[in-house]
Amino acid sequence: MTRTVDFPSGITLPALGQGTWHMGDDPARRDDEIAALRAGLDAGLTLVDTAEMYGSGASERLVGDALRGRRDDVFLVSKVLPSHATADGVRAACHASLDRLGTDHLDLYLLHWPGDVPIEETVAGFDRLVADGSIRDWGVSNVDLDGLDALPTAPATDQILYNLLRRGPEFDLLPALADRAIPAMAYSPVDEGRVLAHPEIERVAGELGVTAAVLALAWVIRSGHVLAISKAGSIEHVADNARALDLDLGTDVLAELDRLFPPPTRATPLEII
Ligand code: NAP
Repeated sequence: MTRTVDFPSGITLPALGQGTWHMGDDPARRDDEIAALRAGLDAGLTLVDTAEMYGSGASERLVGDALRGRRDDVFLVSKVLPSHATADGVRAACHASLDRLGTDHLDLYLLHWPGDVPIEETVAGFDRLVADGSIRDWGVSNVDLDGLDALPTAPATDQILYNLLRRGPEFDLLPALADRAIPAMAYSPVDEGRVLAHPEIERVAGELGVTAAVLALAWVIRSGHVLAISKAGSIEHVADNARALDLDLGTDVLAELDRLFPPPTRATPLEII
């Protein structure tokens, strides 16, 4: 059965979405990247994640082109840079993102990482954008447990680095988010390809009859509290990744992965890429 994740707003999304970092950087890859994003939507990967930072707007422009005519099929996420996260800055940054994306609203707007602007001011800016319909909801990214506790109100998500090579959040952050019914969004779910290069991953995946990417993604989304955003630049890769939505890893496979990539035994600071 396709794995899904519930958000505090009441919306339920497939547990795998699409990342877009570095998309739009290379004009020669543009057609393939647009085709991959559209194929991802067809395969049910409805969340698309971008940011004003990616290619200084190039990713948002490419996403806007890919989603033209399909806005209603997409749960669209973008992010504001911490340096723009004042109450007025967040409004200007959001409207610039909306222009590049060719839409009148974002489904979710995230603070890309904590910066110098007091978080209360950024959240007040987000609240105003919700009130005028520019965004449906707001959240944070790269926020550890202390930062989560410091938020004036609950975010819709915390987008964090989490994969088989980076299990630190399992010790405290992921349980805290689950307790509060806030889904985590796992970025770099195959660690930018490094998980796939691990020889033991290849072996375990081969025994299951899936690719290393499908195994690694199915592991990230196994709990039902984590939505993974995977970046795939080709139709082949996105079609492969979508198979992770329906793969249940049995207890033997999970135990083998715990042996190869042990879970954390103490609190560790949240890592960032
Ligand atoms: P990732 O998704 O872990 O890895 C992307 C790499 O995996 C690409 O080289 C891709 O190659 C390859 N890949 C994907 N599917 C594959 C498959 N089935 N078989 C073989 N290779 C495959 O890394 P990421 O892009 O860093 O993370 C995903 C998204 O998270 C980003 O795009 C971005 O939207 C978001 N992100 C957020 C933050 C933050 O601070 N909030 C930080 C980093 C990333 P191809 O491109 O050739 O398919």
